Formats: sequence, C-alpha cells, structure tokens
Amino acid sequence: MDYYQILGVERSATKEEIKRAYRRLARKYHPDICKKPECEEKFKEINEAYQVLIDEEKRRIYDIYGKEGLERGGMGGGEKGSGGGFDFSDFFGGFFDEFFGGGFEEEEGDLPYPLDRVIEVILDFEEAVYGVCRDVEITYYKLCPLCKGTGASKVAPCPTCGGRGQVYFKQGFFQMAQTCPDCGGKGVKVVEKCKKCKGSGYLIARDKVKVDIPAGVDTGMRMRVKGRGNEGRKGNRGDLYLVFRVKDSKIFKRDGLNLYLELPIFFTNALLGGKVKIPTLYGEQEVELKPFTREGEKIVLPGEGVKSPTTGQKGDLIAIIKIVYPKKLTPRQRELLEELHNSFGKEMVESHHSFLADITEKIKGFWQKLKKGK
Ligand SMILES: [Zn+2]
Ligand SMILES: [Zn+2]
Repeated sequence: MDYYQILGVERSATKEEIKRAYRRLARKYHPDICKKPECEEKFKEINEAYQVLIDEEKRRIYDIYGKEGLERGGMGGGEKGSGGGFDFSDFFGGFFDEFFGGGFEEEEGDLPYPLDRVIEVILDFEEAVYGVCRDVEITYYKLCPLCKGTGASKVAPCPTCGGRGQVYFKQGFFQMAQTCPDCGGKGVKVVEKCKKCKGSGYLIARDKVKVDIPAGVDTGMRMRVKGRGNEGRKGNRGDLYLVFRVKDSKIFKRDGLNLYLELPIFFTNALLGGKVKIPTLYGEQEVELKPFTREGEKIVLPGEGVKSPTTGQKGDLIAIIKIVYPKKLTPRQRELLEELHNSFGKEMVESHHSFLADITEKIKGFWQKLKKGK
C-alpha cells in the first residue's frame, strides 16, 4: 500500500496535513483504544507511513525510489516481536513524541541509526501489578568498525551530480540548486558494499540490562534506562526505552487502575444473602452479600485495584455478580424447589405471563393493521 493512501492525504500534502491525518488515525487505531487484532496491524501501517512522510529526507527518497529506496537507509532490522521489518523505535517513538512531548530521538551526526533504542518488554499480569526485577536481554546497534558507518568498502563520485551533492537546473534566468536525488547530497555512491556489515553501516551487539520495574505499569508505558541505547561515534551510548506490553490475567480484567472480576454466586446464596469471599491482588476479602442480589450487580472494594507507578494512587476492585445455578437436582431437591415454587402462589409466579400476553396482543394488533393497509 502507498504511504499517502494509508494516511489518506494528497501527494502534495503539507507537514501540517500529514500530522493532522496521523493524529486522527492514531487515536482511532492505537492498541490502547482499539482492542481488535486488525487495529494493531493498521496502527503499525499508519506509523510506518507517518515516520516516512513527516521526515523530509525520507519522504523525498520515497517519492523518487519508493519503499526499496528507504530500505538502504538503515530503517530495517526490527527487534523480534515488534512486528514486520519495522524498528520498534520508529514505531513507538513517533507516537509518544507526538502525544506526550519530549523528543528522544537525538540523532548524532550521520549515524545510520538513531542513538536511542526502544525495546518492547512483555510482562505477565502479576509482574506488572506487583513490580519485578528483570534481567532484560537487549540488542543494540554499533557502528561497523570497518566502514565507519558508510556501509561501503569502495565509493565513487556520484555520476548524477559529479560529486557535488547538488544538481542545478535553470528556471527562467535563474540557476537553482537542489540536493542530488541520486546520492542524497553525499556526493558519492557505493560501488562495493562493506563485507563486514553487508552495507548497513552497523553491527548488532547484545547486552543484558537489570531493571527494577515498578508496580503498576501498563501496556504502552515506557521506562528510560540511561546510557544503554545504541552506540555513537565516540563509543558513547544513547538511552534505552523499554515499552511494556502486559499479558491478560485469567481472573482480573484491567482498565487503567481499576480491576474487574466476575464473581460467581450460587443462586440460593444470591437470594438469601450472606458472606462471600472476593479474591484481591493481596489475598481475599470477605464481604456481606445483601439478600436478593441480582446478576450484573457490582461490589466495589475501594483501593484494592492497581497502584499507579507514577502517582502512587490506587484504583478500585470491582466484582461483577454472576448467578450460578445447579446443573442437576436430586429428587429431594426438586421436591423442595417445587414446594418453594408453589408456596409463592399462582398470581406471583404467573405475573410475568400476563405481561407477555399484553405484548403478544399488541404485536397481533400491529400485524392486522399492516395487512389492512396493504
Ligand atoms: Zn561496514
Ligand atoms: Zn549525487
């Protein structure tokens, strides 16, 4: 798919128009907002398109050479699990910069990659709510020592611009200069790719980072680890950003700081009331169930939700009642239940019958009118 089509903008769109289109689509398809699996794919597509079209240089290359032209620009080589060939740093970087401020993609000179690195970390539900100390295995980029990042073992002056990096053309009386579309202004072209890095200009290194993940992190939250990102020209390292993705729990459903759970209650218990135990993050709590509790009713335990890793504020635990009926009855139980049933009297038991009869009459009347009308 064409990047302009993905964002739904004209090929002549301004930066402002591209930004607006991206914001609108990102709000709709962000995995925090839309839970459908197709949305995640769509969101990645939108991000990929945006990252290219918002960057003047990348957009120019894309306009002339298409996607293939960009592949050489050091954008590939994504982390496992980040989806597609697209680097996670580009995937999330754009979104968070746009919405939460703070530019973290500090580019250093002409490195073939950004100095900061973004890695996705998948956490179990429990690890996320209780916090965990983790050894995270990461990869990062370092410059190829053989070609120093150029990706070439042999270069020649660019034939299009003759090594000047600019091309000239006449417009009326004026001579105009433009960055050479062939070499991107570098003035040279790769004749022979570097054998060590196969032309990418970088090598992938491995590292282990010990991180103390605070309690309460949620999907999409990120954490900075200073000095553990990609390597710069002087051996300095950028920052590492861990973006969390939290797996679902079998018991709890999380919504921000609040936790929801389905609480099965036996039907006699629901009618009679009594004590019930509700599982919480830190054990269980006994609460008094009032008589005549209905399906779908909520019991709220304030402060028993998730603790915010930033403010320390705690959410609530909300138990939603689900009435459970026996699957079988013994003859004796049936007898008792029938006795109970009869004890309510015909009028009470059939009160809903008369309500249904009313509706049936109304529908009949409606059909008759409709037939006459024809
Ligand atoms: Zn190299
Ligand atoms: Zn050139």
